[in-house]
Amino acid sequence: MQIIRDIATLHRAVTALKQGGKSVALVPTMGALHDGHLSLVRMGRRVADHVVVSIFVNPTQFGPNEDYAAYPRDEARDAALLAQDGVGLLWAPDVGIMYPAGHSTHIEVAELGADYCGAARPGHFDGVATVVAKLFNQVRPDVAIFGEKDWQQLAIIRRMARDLDFALDILGAPIARDPDGLALSSRNAYLTQDQRAAATAFPGALKAAAAAIASGADVGESLAKAEAAIVAGGFDSVDYVALADANSLERLAACRAPARLLAAARIGKTRLIDNYPVG
Ligand code: AMP
Repeated sequence: MQIIRDIATLHRAVTALKQGGKSVALVPTMGALHDGHLSLVRMGRRVADHVVVSIFVNPTQFGPNEDYAAYPRDEARDAALLAQDGVGLLWAPDVGIMYPAGHSTHIEVAELGADYCGAARPGHFDGVATVVAKLFNQVRPDVAIFGEKDWQQLAIIRRMARDLDFALDILGAPIARDPDGLALSSRNAYLTQDQRAAATAFPGALKAAAAAIASGADVGESLAKAEAAIVAGGFDSVDYVALADANSLERLAACRAPARLLAAARIGKTRLIDNYPVG
């Protein structure tokens, strides 16, 4: 597997991969890879001839009091996992390559980025959209794969690709979970043993609420019950538990298809997100 850190070498390598009409799938990540990321890689191998993975901990999507400095980084381990999984090229630019001095252009995400994680993390989705647009231009993939774990992010990327006429397909990959239901996340590494044990309450409450709503229970009551169960399970606070239109992300007071239950909650210093389909 080639590990590439500058744009000219990247362009040459991608051009070589594409020779003979071969297709390229891009899987953007921030590293600290787990089976969720690797499931995206496997999807990439199914849909394209070559898989390019990017690892870049993007400073512009972290708020000033967030975990940019503490975010887990272990490129050697990540590279070994990717090589084992048949990835041909790892794109691992440093911050100075991604944002050279004087970098001053960014993408602003309007309505889709306003609520949910966007409300709790101002500027987050502008940072995500900007770096993903740059990754699309740098790698020029035929398809890019994102996890449904970050449902709002996936909706925003799909919209951005449409709005800005990126000529590639965006695919969503199902959420990979631990056996007790907790969605895999690089941030699970922050959890103490007790917090990790308690964290199962989060997917448990969401799954129960999604099932209740699908079978006709009152939406407001179901959301309130889920919030209470998350806090009773050991979480310190709930950022949001909401029923949303799965595509437009509009909040729904009554269930109509396609709907998605979206949530974020905090346990200790860790903020976890998750979502479930409804019906
Ligand atoms: P991250 O490194 O956390 O920025 O995630 C990189 C990509 O992996 C994003 O598209 C995420 O949605 C996806 N991802 C992260 N966790 C999971 C998971 N548990 N299941 C599926 N995809 C995931």
